[in-house]
Order: sequence, then C-alpha cells, then structure tokens
Amino acid sequence: MSDSGAGLISRYQARLALPTSVKPISLQEGSTPLVCLNSLCDPERGIVVYGKVEGANPTGSFKDRGMTVAITMAAHEGSEAVICASTGNTSAAAAAYAARAGMKAFVVIPDGKIALGKLAQAMMHGARVIQIAGNFDEGMQIVKAMPDEAPVTLVNSVNPYRLQGQKTAAFEIVDSLGRAPDYHFLPVGNAGNISAYWLGYSEYHQTGDLDKLPIMVGCQAAGAAPFVHGKIVADPETVATAIRIGNPQSWDLAQAARSESGGWFVAHEDQLILDAQQYLAQREGIFCEPASAVSVAALISALRESAIPDQSVVVCTLTGHGLKDPDTAISQSPEPLRVAPTLGAVRDAILR
Ligand SMILES: *Cc1c(COP(=O)(O)O)cnc(C)c1O
Repeated sequence: MSDSGAGLISRYQARLALPTSVKPISLQEGSTPLVCLNSLCDPERGIVVYGKVEGANPTGSFKDRGMTVAITMAAHEGSEAVICASTGNTSAAAAAYAARAGMKAFVVIPDGKIALGKLAQAMMHGARVIQIAGNFDEGMQIVKAMPDEAPVTLVNSVNPYRLQGQKTAAFEIVDSLGRAPDYHFLPVGNAGNISAYWLGYSEYHQTGDLDKLPIMVGCQAAGAAPFVHGKIVADPETVATAIRIGNPQSWDLAQAARSESGGWFVAHEDQLILDAQQYLAQREGIFCEPASAVSVAALISALRESAIPDQSVVVCTLTGHGLKDPDTAISQSPEPLRVAPTLGAVRDAILR
C-alpha cells in the first residue's frame, strides 16, 4: 500500500479480490493528489476542504481506476475486444488500456456532444469510434445487449470490476488523511463513481480501518438531474457533457450511498458550474473539466447556506482534467490581446 509508484492492482490487490494469477494491465493509475483548496477553507470555522485531483490519472480522469481492473480481468478471461458507451472519458480510458492489453476497443459515443480532447484520445489510441445519432443513455442500452451479439466484453460501470477499481480512490483519501472526510462531494452521472466511493469507505469501515463514514453529496447538472427529480430524465442537457445522463445505470447503489450515509443529491445550473470551474482554475491553479466543477459549485452553495457545520473536513472529487474540453474553456474566457510584434506594443499591453 505504500508503493505509490505502482498501479492500483498491485497496491490494493488484497482488497480487490482478484485471482492471484492475474497480470495487471496498468498505466500506474491512482495515487492522485489530494490538494488543499485554500480559498474554500474557513479557518475561523475550522472547515478544511480538499480536492482529489483525478485529472492526474494517465488518461486524465478517474475512469482509469475502473478500467485497469476491467481490462485486466477481460484479458485474464481471454477476451479480445471490449465495448463501452461513453460521454467521452470512459472511451478514452477503454481505448488506452485496451491498446496496452493488445485488445480491440469499440466505443459508442453520442453525436456531436463529446468534448474534443476525449474524442482525440479514443481515436489516437486506435479505438473504433461509433457515433450514434442519439444520446449516452441510448448508447448504453445498445452496448448492454452487445455481448450477446458479438464477441466483446462490456466495460461500462455496470461491469462490477469497474467499481472495484474505482473504490480505491476512497482508500487513498483515508490513507492520506488518516480518516474519512465528514462530507464528500462528487459529480454524479451514470452513478458508478458515487457507488464505488461508498463501497470503498464501507469496506474500510468494516475492516476497522475507518471509524466514521462520510456523508455523501451527489452533485448533478440542473438539466440532467434524475436523482434530484427522483426519476429518469428523457432529454438530459448540460454543458457538463460527462454527466449528461438521464438514466443512470447504478440507480439503486447510488440511492443506497445517499441514504446509508445520510447524504443528499443536489443540482446546479450550467452557469454556476462554469463559474466554479473558472474559480478553481484562477484561485487554486487546478483546471478541471466542467462536470468535475459541479462538486465545487455544490460545496460553495452549501457553505453559503451554512449547510456544512464548523470543524468539518470536506473532500470534492475533481473527476477529470480541464484539457479534455478546450472548447468550453476558451468560449468562457476573454480573447487574447492582439498587438504588433514590438517591444513597445507588448509593453503598452502590459501597462494598459
Ligand atoms: C464519468 C464521469 C463522471 C460521472 O461519473 P459516474 O460514475 O458516471 O457517475 C463525472 N465526471 C467526469 C469527468 C467523468 O468522466
């Protein structure tokens, strides 16, 4: 567990319940930074806030944690191809780990609503990219049925190995804080990750490695908030494309995480999400993608509403890297200044 240079499977093998003979397919994922978000801390009230920077994973999102285990097991079971539906990051991770395993990857993505960096990753790693004239939820229904139609292994988070890998983020947080946070805020789309974190915290609790479980706060975009509404959303819409999901596959597990932890679901408008993304980039030097920033938007609101008691430790999961979605970043930023290529012109631009 101390070998932070190794991948998840070798670091947490005993907790993952995999056959001892597996050969890990790893890019040394995990061991991501847990960074204090100074501008969100409140020393007078004793509130400390950390960001778990999952954009530091090899393909730039937490999906690598699940994918190392899912692809390792697919290879172990003799599979030669994997398939997933994806809003982008699952396809990037599947493509990279499949490449490393010498397997084919097929990724089914929604038409036009995928961030540019994620598409570039899937294409560059050699995945067969299949774009459907539909949304993620429609893609999900198709790929779930595909293992009966073609020799492919499904690597979406309905594959239980995905949650096994992703639960290690909770282990890392407890390993580095020596405790769980009081509140854990994270974005919820298909709801695999909140389920995985709760699994991780609960397992540490059962084995006596953790005294007190955190309260889980699931954060959604207002236009894609099935958990807040308590029902499927037919046409989810949000700038936070990674959580543009209306029919989450891990519905029951996520509901259990909320109720067992005494937590809640909350949704925020796109503009608040983008404001939080920019805040984090400009105040903390952390560039996360829009979907990740919903956890910070929700925390900022909760702090304003005094919903977080004094002396609380809070963790926000920052699920993916901001470079994944350069279009959204550029469109909310001022244009560069355009000046002549002279010392005087650049000096005037600086002193202006
Ligand atoms: C996949 C993803 C999410 C949502 O996670 P779920 O497990 O689908 O709830 C949030 N943010 C980013 C960046 C993602 O890639």
